[in-house]
Amino acid sequence: MKRNLTQALEHWIAEGIRSIGQISITPQPEGGFELRHLEDAGRDDLTLHTSALDARGLSFFDDAKAYRPLKTAPTLRHGWRLQVQTAQELRIALDYFYPAMTALWQSQLAGELRPVALRETLNRQTGMYAATKRLQDEEGQQLVGRHCAATSCTKRIMWEFAPGQPLTELSEQKRWPAPEGTHAIPLICQEACNHLVPACREVVKKRERAAG
Ligand code: SF4
Repeated sequence: MKRNLTQALEHWIAEGIRSIGQISITPQPEGGFELRHLEDAGRDDLTLHTSALDARGLSFFDDAKAYRPLKTAPTLRHGWRLQVQTAQELRIALDYFYPAMTALWQSQLAGELRPVALRETLNRQTGMYAATKRLQDEEGQQLVGRHCAATSCTKRIMWEFAPGQPLTELSEQKRWPAPEGTHAIPLICQEACNHLVPACREVVKKRERAAG
């Protein structure tokens, strides 16, 4: 029987998992869990939150109060700690910070995750995004290298450019699989997101406009 995600999370933490993305997860001696920014380890001046629902608001803006359209951007704000009492609340909080990431990791561990090549994603686009089918290999590879760089997104990319055609412009931090022994739930990019697809369109349109 497929393991319930909350139970899976409890199991991973019992096995030593202590972080996800930019967030540390610390089981508390009296029960429950504390979340905070990894870079806030040791700080005692953090603002305390005690509702898992507060994770939603904490995920919206960076330290400069700028909106974060991509939840996996490496711009999570500092200065807070969030205490939750149960594994279910922990799962809810993590889902606000990093939507679907714990479920994807569970699927990956079960061998059920199928990466979708960028070409496959683009080839099924319709309407204004159908133009992405005309993305050229070289410009596409360059775009992924820029747009998905670790400075913009903390996920590791599983997909290929096209079946049998690897991505060529990724840094080590962006490559799948994640190194073992880090005690972190990896953030997986299984398929190009809805930020990359419009960027692909823009590259095609720009080239075509320049060509007249
Ligand atoms: S396609 Fe994946 S790696 Fe690239 S920005 Fe989107 S979520 Fe991040």
